Amino acid sequence: MLHSKPKEDTYLHKGLRKNLIDTLKKKGIKDARVLDAINAIPRHFFLDPAFERKAYEDRAFPIAAGQTISQPYTVAYMTELLEIKKFDKVLEIGTGSAYQACVLAEMGATVYSIERQKELYDYIGKFFFLKNYPSIKRFYGDGYQGLKTYAPFDKVIVTAAAPYVPEKLIEQLKPGGIMMIPVGSDGAQKMLRITKDKDGNIHEEELGDFSFVPMLGGKEQ
Ligand code: SAH
Repeated sequence: MLHSKPKEDTYLHKGLRKNLIDTLKKKGIKDARVLDAINAIPRHFFLDPAFERKAYEDRAFPIAAGQTISQPYTVAYMTELLEIKKFDKVLEIGTGSAYQACVLAEMGATVYSIERQKELYDYIGKFFFLKNYPSIKRFYGDGYQGLKTYAPFDKVIVTAAAPYVPEKLIEQLKPGGIMMIPVGSDGAQKMLRITKDKDGNIHEEELGDFSFVPMLGGKEQ
């Protein structure tokens, strides 16, 4: 397993990461805490060694089980709009590479992350870097169900394209909470920012266009 052995974070990697941060700033990311978190995490640890340089391009990239590690800009954008505070309880749908989960944990959040693909769930379990983030709790399950036992959550982040906003995820959001979710069919989705006010009323803002892998129903072996 390429993921199981620690890798080095050299000056070259750090330099490439600095350039990535500059790119994210140019694209409009302003929250210094988000940028600091991205700067603190060696994204090349999440990719096969053959693609190390690609890790610092602002692009999504294939990982195990036909899935992708999200584009750094997308991670930064969603994280900024979630207004993460230290000790926030965050529900993430779609652990994937766990990169997004690490960014949230680096900012001090406790992350409850669900992955529906057993192969990917097990693979990430062997990833040496996750030992640095005991505040990431991983679950093998179906994101449409959320995690009732641990609800409610301050924030919810869905990192797969949802055909609609799952009702259970709305229920599991705290009053005053924020959810980021890309909604739409394969290929193109609208990013939605959903807020639940103190009285439990739901407000929805439609933001830009994004492209995620689909949020599928049920678990996969
Ligand atoms: N957050 C990830 C991006 C993962 S890509 C990262 O930072 O790398 C989307 C992930 O969502 C895939 O791993 C896919 O298997 C998972 N997924 C799709 N539908 C799901 C569902 N219903 N429940 C949980 N995970 C799901």
